[in-house]
Amino acid sequence: MANTSDRSKRTDVNTLGEFGLIDHLTSGFELRQPSSIKGVGDDGAVIDNGNMMTVVSTDMLVEGIHFDLMYSPLKHLGYKSIVVNLSDIYAMNAIPKQVTVSIALSNRFSVEALEELYDGIKRACDYYKVDLIGGDTTSSPKGLYISVTAIGQVEKDRVVYRNTAKAGDLICITGNVGAAYLGLQLLEREKQLYLSNPDIKPDLEEQDFLVGRQLKPEARKDMIDVFKKSGLQPTSMIDVSDGVASEIFHLCKQSKVGAFIEESGVPIHPDAQMMALKFQLDPITCALNGGEDYELIFTIDPKDLDKVKYLPDIYIMGEIVPASDGIKLHTKGGNIHDLSAQGWKHF
Ligand code: ADP
Ligand code: MG
Repeated sequence: MANTSDRSKRTDVNTLGEFGLIDHLTSGFELRQPSSIKGVGDDGAVIDNGNMMTVVSTDMLVEGIHFDLMYSPLKHLGYKSIVVNLSDIYAMNAIPKQVTVSIALSNRFSVEALEELYDGIKRACDYYKVDLIGGDTTSSPKGLYISVTAIGQVEKDRVVYRNTAKAGDLICITGNVGAAYLGLQLLEREKQLYLSNPDIKPDLEEQDFLVGRQLKPEARKDMIDVFKKSGLQPTSMIDVSDGVASEIFHLCKQSKVGAFIEESGVPIHPDAQMMALKFQLDPITCALNGGEDYELIFTIDPKDLDKVKYLPDIYIMGEIVPASDGIKLHTKGGNIHDLSAQGWKHF
């Protein structure tokens, strides 16, 4: 390992960022098994299983980074930890079948608390019809860690990758974005108010939509059924975990293309619009950079436009262009500028 031979060298992980770090650590690994069709770099890995492809995705949720138990009920957290993984399986156009759940916890957690967590996990397994088939349980010095692996299946010729978008393809999204981020802002605001004065009652009335999008998201299982029924094969697909802009960047980088996004084509829920303005934030910035919406962004060949035009919940937000045209946002005001991807920086 050449890059670790100089033991005196210490590089801060911040210099690479999350995705740079993943690239750096994994670029030296080659796929040696003929059945390993897709390794690192997509929403899920793809394994050839004969008639079908198996899709595998894993995610880890860390207390204090991905969730705050001051406002995340454990039941919702359990539900969400499954949903975020299933979303990655759907983003490959596959149907999730099984999950494993591993937890590390400190002695702060009671059996009753963990029952709550597993109640949420069970509800998600019931709703999405997946089986919990295993996991691991261990202790942690501090805090709760939840790692979920989801396993799905898809017919060989239906799997959809991130790296297959072509110039001229239309960029679609399955629903509104930005609400989960604004829900988080609301919960954070109420937390700070509570910490400064525990007598203040939380003011979350009429914000069920935003708070719900943050605490209890759903994955777009329905869309995979819609694609199948309407005979639509997206040319590429990714789910929105880090934020629309960041996902568009991944898709473009992997497909070696650019994108032209219409601000007016990015769906924002009226509640999110209003709340952004209350927080003095730009609604479109929240929509593009917020994240955790778990909608699907996919591209289609323009000849398939008729197949999506009349489907509910599909919005066309732009077009794939040659890489040399860059990744641009056409604002409602008529300006064109570079789309910036802030995403989430956990380091
Ligand atoms: P997503 O946001 O869709 O869950 P990530 O951004 O977490 O995807 O991961 C991007 C890709 O990098 C995936 O293929 C994932 O499996 C891979 N990956 C992430 N972390 C590691 C790691 N520590 N070692 C190997 N592969 C990793
Ligand atoms: Mg993903």
